[in-house]
Amino acid sequence: MSTKVAVVTGSNKGIGLAIVRSLCKQYQGDVYITARDVGRGQEAVESMVSEGLKPKFHQLDINDLESITTAAAFFKDKYGGVDVLINNAGIAFKAADTTPFPVQAEVTLKTNYFATRDMLTHFLPLIKAGGRVVNVSSFVGARTLNKCNSALQQRFRSEDISEEELNGLMEQFVDQAKKGEHEKGGWPDTAYGTSKTGLTVLSMIHARRLSKERPNDGVLVNACCPGWVRTDMAGSKAPKSPDEGAITPVYLALLPPGAAEPHGKFVSDKEVQQW
Ligand code: NAP
Repeated sequence: MSTKVAVVTGSNKGIGLAIVRSLCKQYQGDVYITARDVGRGQEAVESMVSEGLKPKFHQLDINDLESITTAAAFFKDKYGGVDVLINNAGIAFKAADTTPFPVQAEVTLKTNYFATRDMLTHFLPLIKAGGRVVNVSSFVGARTLNKCNSALQQRFRSEDISEEELNGLMEQFVDQAKKGEHEKGGWPDTAYGTSKTGLTVLSMIHARRLSKERPNDGVLVNACCPGWVRTDMAGSKAPKSPDEGAITPVYLALLPPGAAEPHGKFVSDKEVQQW
């Protein structure tokens, strides 16, 4: 049987690196740290080696389509596909950041939603039967959903929303933010939250699509919240350590063979959350 492989995006530090640490200890296969910066990625590999673990490395900048397609071709060629994909890479402007909101909206949506969407476009076809896809979203996305106007909430909760419609809504948020009209358009005043609402809905769309298109393959796709975790993104006051933040993503990545659920859910503390 061919070697299994798990790929974690944005895993040179923070929750991503903790996910790699946990997978290295329990996953029967190769585990890849990926990072946009090769130097930071290799440093992360060395830090794991110093803990007695043996992750591998591949460069991957999710904002760079060529980097995505190069990595996808590498995993297809070397492993015949991917068994576990954890889309963890993400960004957040600090609350005190004075970057104008339209710029924050465009930049945040670009990485957290559109670039992760590109990852899914190119990697989902590679996910092997029995594979697991985990999109690291956030409770902030769930809170943001509840602050959208009722028409948006209805679309984000509907079973028939398509990826195209969702892409259009995410673009609409950015366009309206650029004109200072997003609140008038029914959106809350949060770029990070909107990006994560979009990512969670996208996970649900892909799960439904896979159930239809590959009904016998047992691939499970979920979004999750790691909790509020002490990282460069969230700061030192957060209650969870990165290793604690890794627990739910890793739980979803290692759902046992034959499991049928959760699938297409938003999961926090290993529990399916209402959406
Ligand atoms: P972090 O410490 O800032 O780490 C973010 C990681 O994403 C870094 O490795 C970063 O790489 C990488 N990244 C950013 N843009 C990338 C790109 N274009 N391509 C590849 N990698 C990229 O943040 P974290 O707290 O661990 O966050 C990890 C995930 O958890 C994010 O999706 C975040 O939204 C989510 N989350 C975090 C919390 C929390 O409390 N921390 C709560 C809910 C959800 P560089 O080092 O090169 O910048």
